[in-house]
Amino acid sequence: VDASFKRINEVDDKVKAFVTLNEEEARKQAKELDEKLNDETSILYGMPIGIKDNIVTKGLRTTSASRMLDNFNDPLYDATVIQKLNEVNTITVGKLNMDEFAMGSSTETSFYGKTRNPWNLDYVPGGSSGGSAASVAAGEVFFSLGSDTGGSIRQPAAFSGVVGLKPTYGLVSRFGLIAFASSLDQIGPITRTVEDNAHLLQAIVGADKLDATSVNADVPNYSEAMQQGVKGLRIGVPKEYLDEGVNPEVKEAVMAALKKYEELGATWEEVSLPHSKYALAAYYLLSSSEASANLARFDGIRYGHRTDKRVDMIDVYKESRAEAFGEEVKRRIMLGTFALSSGYYDAYYKKAQKVRTLIKNDFEKVFEDYDVIIGPTTPTVAFKIGENVDDPLTMYAQDILTIPINLAGVPAISIPCGLTEAGLPIGLQIIGKHFDEATIYRTAYAFE
Ligand code: GLN
Repeated sequence: VDASFKRINEVDDKVKAFVTLNEEEARKQAKELDEKLNDETSILYGMPIGIKDNIVTKGLRTTSASRMLDNFNDPLYDATVIQKLNEVNTITVGKLNMDEFAMGSSTETSFYGKTRNPWNLDYVPGGSSGGSAASVAAGEVFFSLGSDTGGSIRQPAAFSGVVGLKPTYGLVSRFGLIAFASSLDQIGPITRTVEDNAHLLQAIVGADKLDATSVNADVPNYSEAMQQGVKGLRIGVPKEYLDEGVNPEVKEAVMAALKKYEELGATWEEVSLPHSKYALAAYYLLSSSEASANLARFDGIRYGHRTDKRVDMIDVYKESRAEAFGEEVKRRIMLGTFALSSGYYDAYYKKAQKVRTLIKNDFEKVFEDYDVIIGPTTPTVAFKIGENVDDPLTMYAQDILTIPINLAGVPAISIPCGLTEAGLPIGLQIIGKHFDEATIYRTAYAFE
């Protein structure tokens, strides 16, 4: 914990990964744990960890990077993942920056300023879990938690050269995660190594009576299961993931990774996920619709910022929301409210749900013959701060290769697979069957 704060003091005024630090409490906990240390303590005992600021932490400010929750200083409970981390005695050193309400791909929409990519401070770290990825990449913490609705763990992991896993929908409880799109959101670990990632996932999985979508999956010991090697592993490589839109340096790195897998005894073949091209459109309809409903609670009365203007009741709602939500959040609420409005439901929402089923079927079909699917995590590497900020469509396209995975509910990891000539990290995405994180880790570990 000392080392973690030392590093934070050295670099965080440049990287700006943290929104809130928990220094006094963290040092106190570290002292207590030092005294209780014994041979039976867990592997994560005393480890400093950073938490994305949309995961509720008892007594520690939780903002979702929005002015709406700027004064949410003293949450009354811990998210289930935090309770689970408390059981294995990790120490939360602070809360990490993100795009406001997890909407974005660059951590530029935060009310608390932009986080920078530790590999090159002129570049974005990715998003929305940009603080979670940058803090690990900059060596401020070993571990962090992020959340992934359409790519928000894997894309920043790829841009920042770290390991990030989006678990199967339902593997990890979302109780205490400030909801963006409830049918897609998952919490997951971001770490430097695959092994660390497996240990952190192990600590947070499991059914939770406070999240009806969580399930009691049969969970192996991931760090043992991953040691098996990849001899005989069958890899599918979707042709849609390596088409013209993918940057040549990214493609080259993925091809080199596949070659390495061949050398390690795995085989790969080209496959097809034919409905991938509809994923982006379906995702932005579904996620914005769900967001418009989830964010309705922030009205200045029940939750969130309340306007100081002396206005009547209806205008309290309007003014509070107008003042406290940023542009991107408003854009999503408007899109979602429109898509769900009377007369449009069948044309938009229902149709998008049908497309979602087709996408899920694509994955299931490939998984009849292959153990994992491999491709790039993102079509390009990190872009410059400010480069895409005024162009929502280009920003949305960042997640074209990660979104289908959320729609299908399957798990996927991003691991580093090289650098571009300009020295920016490239991410390799390994996608697994529902609840088969063990095979993902096995594949990822063999590569490392
Ligand atoms: N970039 C995507 C979006 O803006 C994904 C965000 C996420 O996974 N939370 O919606």
